[in-house]
Amino acid sequence: MNLSMKNLPDKTVERLSQYRRSLNNQLAKGKTHIFSHEIANLLHITPVQVRRDIMLIGYSGTLRKGYDIKEMVVLIGKIIDTDEGIKIAVIGMGNLGKAFIHYMYEKRTKLKIVAAFDINPDKIDKSYEDVYCYHLDRLEEIINEMGITVAIITTPPEVASPMADRLKEAGITGILNYTPRALSPREGVYLEEHDMITSLEKVSYFVKLRD
Ligand code: NAD
Repeated sequence: MNLSMKNLPDKTVERLSQYRRSLNNQLAKGKTHIFSHEIANLLHITPVQVRRDIMLIGYSGTLRKGYDIKEMVVLIGKIIDTDEGIKIAVIGMGNLGKAFIHYMYEKRTKLKIVAAFDINPDKIDKSYEDVYCYHLDRLEEIINEMGITVAIITTPPEVASPMADRLKEAGITGILNYTPRALSPREGVYLEEHDMITSLEKVSYFVKLRD
């Protein structure tokens, strides 16, 4: 089986992305090898978890020196990146949509926000940090033309569900929903939800436990 096609658990994929960022930081500091307990310390998880994830991707280090950081970064890239990169659309170029575009701007990653869509005439036919904003009417046409496969929904919450249906019909296979309206799964679409309030409530619950 092709390594990149392996069906890894969601959480492992999430951690692989975190490992790569930490490992790149270590490389930048001149470090060449790293032990699982060091990675674990950096990410506040257990060494067992790190070893399990690394075993899942079929990598092994030497007992004496630990893992070769460069090799691991390359291997993680082979698993989570695609050669041609992933093209992303932002749906709703408001505060959050712009924040995403700003955050990804000029980042050397395989993930590229290539278009935005909105219905507000003040935002349409303008670029924000090199990302052109199209009228929503052109959604299907542009997704098709540019080969966009992932969409980030940053519209008002009530728009999220019909938008997800429309995105699926347009050929989108991955959705990151940032509205507080939870979406039901859609066949053939990988869905990730990010609700800031839930995260904050979780934090505040644990803060309350400590008090
Ligand atoms: P915003 O009002 O600044 O932006 C929403 C944008 O969506 C606007 O540009 C609007 O014109 C556009 N829009 C409205 N209907 C549309 C449609 N049918 N198709 C395409 N675009 C449409 O809001 P925001 O602060 O950017 O928040 C966006 C979403 O993210 C909301 O659901 C909000 O609850 C959620 N959210 C925002 C934040 C934040 O920090 N701003 C944090 C967490 C979650």
